[in-house]
Amino acid sequence: MESASGRLSAVRKTIAAACAAAGRDPAEVRLLAVSKRHAADRILGLLSLGQQAFGENYVSEALGKQAEMADADIEWHFIGPVQSNKTRDLARAFHWVQSIDREKILRRLSDQRPASLGPLNVCLQVNIDEEAQKSGAAPPELPALAALAASLPGLRLRGLMCIPRAWDDPEKSRQAFARTRHCFELLRAEGHDIDTLSMGMSGDIAPAIAEGSTMVRVGTALFGPRDPS
Ligand SMILES: *Cc1c(COP(=O)(O)O)cnc(C)c1O
Repeated sequence: MESASGRLSAVRKTIAAACAAAGRDPAEVRLLAVSKRHAADRILGLLSLGQQAFGENYVSEALGKQAEMADADIEWHFIGPVQSNKTRDLARAFHWVQSIDREKILRRLSDQRPASLGPLNVCLQVNIDEEAQKSGAAPPELPALAALAASLPGLRLRGLMCIPRAWDDPEKSRQAFARTRHCFELLRAEGHDIDTLSMGMSGDIAPAIAEGSTMVRVGTALFGPRDPS
């Protein structure tokens, strides 16, 4: 079985190669380790190798693991669907929430963010392939959501996140990333000071970086397959 350090260095090499091919500086692309359904000791293993940002999808699972490693210096990102009855936990226990697609969630997170923690970093999730079952705002909804997020005192708007359809054809993923980047550029042109384009997962790191990703969210390539239960 491959070691955690072997996997981490392979993922870093994939990112570096994609940056080289795109003429980009690898320092522009952050790696978020997606640790859903992996235990706290696996997270601590990667932390000890220098990986500091971790993403979780399920609130109760994440809170349980956080309690097991309360002293660890981890930057926690929430990337799963947000239910309104979970916003209080998210506002207290995470540094970032990347998966916001509606006004109500923005308002609740801002109201519930403890002032002592400073503003919560947020990204708007874009449903870029317009899939009926998937979370995310439609592109035309983004300007109003971004304006609201930027106006709320408990939030700091950082950018956009997308999960394209699981295309077999990498060119289709690349087109979805390009459309997301276009949405990001429109918000910047409206004056938003945003710096984060969260796109790319284990299977599509290279096309995401080619289209301007500044944060790739990688689970399987770092941890191996997830327990399906
Ligand atoms: C699970 C997940 C990932 C990681 O997916 P892998 O294919 O395992 O790299 C990234 N982003 C989101 C939103 C996820 O839910």
